Amino acid sequence: MDFRIYNTLTRQKELFKPLKAGEVGIYTCGPTVYHYAHIGNLRTYITEDTFVRMLKFFGWKVKRVMNITDVGHLTSDADTGEDKMELGAKREGKTAWEVARFYAEAFFKDYKALNCLPPDVLCPATDYVKEMIDMALVLEKKGYTYDIPGDGVYFDTAKLSDYGKLVGKAHVEGIKEGARVEANAQKRHPADFAVWKFAAPGEKRQMEWDSPWGRGFPGWHMECSAMAVKHLGETIDIHWGGEDHVAVHHTNEIAQSEAASGKPFANYWMHARFLVTGDEGKMSKSAGDFLTTSTLPEKGYDPLAYRYYCLLTHYRKQLEFTWEGVEAAARGLDGLRTLAQKVKAEAGTATHSLDREAKYFKDFEAALADDVNLPAALAVLWETLKDGSVPAAQRLAFALKAEEVTALDLFKAKEEGELPAEAAALIAERELARKNKDWKKSDELRKALAEKGVLIEDTPKGTKWKLARG
Ligand code: AMP
Ligand code: ZN
Repeated sequence: MDFRIYNTLTRQKELFKPLKAGEVGIYTCGPTVYHYAHIGNLRTYITEDTFVRMLKFFGWKVKRVMNITDVGHLTSDADTGEDKMELGAKREGKTAWEVARFYAEAFFKDYKALNCLPPDVLCPATDYVKEMIDMALVLEKKGYTYDIPGDGVYFDTAKLSDYGKLVGKAHVEGIKEGARVEANAQKRHPADFAVWKFAAPGEKRQMEWDSPWGRGFPGWHMECSAMAVKHLGETIDIHWGGEDHVAVHHTNEIAQSEAASGKPFANYWMHARFLVTGDEGKMSKSAGDFLTTSTLPEKGYDPLAYRYYCLLTHYRKQLEFTWEGVEAAARGLDGLRTLAQKVKAEAGTATHSLDREAKYFKDFEAALADDVNLPAALAVLWETLKDGSVPAAQRLAFALKAEEVTALDLFKAKEEGELPAEAAALIAERELARKNKDWKKSDELRKALAEKGVLIEDTPKGTKWKLARG
């Protein structure tokens, strides 16, 4: 299947062509494990997961590599400030290694709860320090680096004629203008970045290594370049990350990888737009106050309702987080599951095979092949499940196939005590009626709910429900 994806590098949708027929190598930037991943981070991982699932759905063999940043990511993207890991260690009174282990485990628990597939290769940066030093040595030998005594070894961005091609020349020039606020005046150009940082004199870091330049730690961008080459080769098919990485992290990955190998680093660059919160704008891990996956069950939501919430907005559109939105998505997912399970019951034991020539299936594929248009693909799924003119057994086969991409547990049995989907809709309608002071309607809806075995109680904190016994 031919499909088109938006390439940040060329700023257009392009037909995807892998280096090797039938196989795709993907590198996705992983979590910095100094704190829990917030639901914004997880929007990006859900997007990447859906993308990998889509490739597999179309029959491609995928090798996905993800790093774990457990050293070297400083609080400022300009290579100044504290190492986030050492900061996490201070905050929690643990070692940086303990912090890394704890938050990496927490990350994968959340990741799994959102039905994201494990990467094929998972690599913590601290396991690849030798590879990073080797790459920095190549850069040094080719004349791309310079030393700032007491600080680090820096990449000289002026040596690359196409530095900044991912973000655009204008942006790089802008960095030059902003030089007055640049903390490190010893850099030749404000965009220059560290490939190796020296441990500050007199300060004993928890994470530091010997190198040809002295004790210290790798610059943050090095890990992704070194690990991508090691596991996927000097040129890779697709590199993924969140939109914040375009201007600095990915721009610098490209610079050092291409300077070292003399070859293009990644043929396609894909970026997920941010999840933002209305009041504070972008969600930030360093701010400390943020929503995590575990907030969802605490508020009574299936984490997959959040997955569904994300899939309803195209990955290249900003997604504004609201609890009303999650509530609507939870109801929507409930409705979709009820529908899918009804179709399954209707299909009974009839043998079913997927009709790949059917219009709905072609439409579903076409939506995915158009830069992973999940909102459109989900609309096709809804319409088809409801379409009585398609035999139930075929609708079932389609829903099962679609699940390979959507991963919403459509056939998950309802837990006992869970609110039936139709009841959720009635409660919502009743809340609206109460808001509009339509007491008559509100009473009617209370009766309708009681008939379904759902009892309602109005409290100052809102409407509560419980299932009637028997
Ligand atoms: P970090 O753990 O900070 O290195 O980020 C992990 C991933 O989450 C990266 O791909 C980031 O680009 C992405 N990311 C960070 N904040 C957000 C956000 N608010 N919305 C979506 N993705 C984000
Ligand atoms: Zn990276």
